[in-house]
Amino acid sequence: MKRTNEPSDSEPAPRKHASRKQSDSPHNEFSRLKLNGTVYNVGDVAVIKEYTDDCCFGKIVKIWCKAKGQAFVRLRWYYKPSDVFSTVPVFIGVDELFNSDHEQDVYVQTLYDKVQVLSFPDYSSRSEIDEDIFFTRARYIPSTNQLDPPIDAWPTVCLCKAIQSPNDVYVECEQCGRLYHFPCVHMEQEKVDKDWVCSACRQ
Ligand SMILES: [Zn+2]
Ligand SMILES: [Zn+2]
Repeated sequence: MKRTNEPSDSEPAPRKHASRKQSDSPHNEFSRLKLNGTVYNVGDVAVIKEYTDDCCFGKIVKIWCKAKGQAFVRLRWYYKPSDVFSTVPVFIGVDELFNSDHEQDVYVQTLYDKVQVLSFPDYSSRSEIDEDIFFTRARYIPSTNQLDPPIDAWPTVCLCKAIQSPNDVYVECEQCGRLYHFPCVHMEQEKVDKDWVCSACRQ
């Protein structure tokens, strides 16, 4: 780790003149840190690897250093679909995460990598999805085991009013931009018409 602006074990003790009281409060806060060649900023989403090699994700809300020099990162966890559902619904994407208010301090050394978490519209509008791209469209509340907004308030698509799924392929109405399943509008995916207009807009 570099010296300037970043937590380090070799940080000189800055508390010679500090009172005991102050030395117990969050002493040194940083906006970024560099670890194993990766720069992490407050606001970035960090990847933590579990013992099982599973990845956990958390937004960095604070980078700070204890008086003794040990550096921490405060993460606001993202929950994975498998944390939220006993049976993951079909409309949940492989890259889907749920943000939360659950915060936890971890040692900076546990940071493994960083990823991007997009909104669902931003994720959906991408033509290619890299490995480090995830999305979120709801917040998970662990204490009540609920999602905010609840699933029945999630945006729907098509005539069949299905919840929009990143796993489905849609045809988009050229006029209103609404998405439809190919079978629901009796269209073959191979014969997609770029200027296709849905029945509602044709009326
Ligand atoms: Zn449909
Ligand atoms: Zn339309």
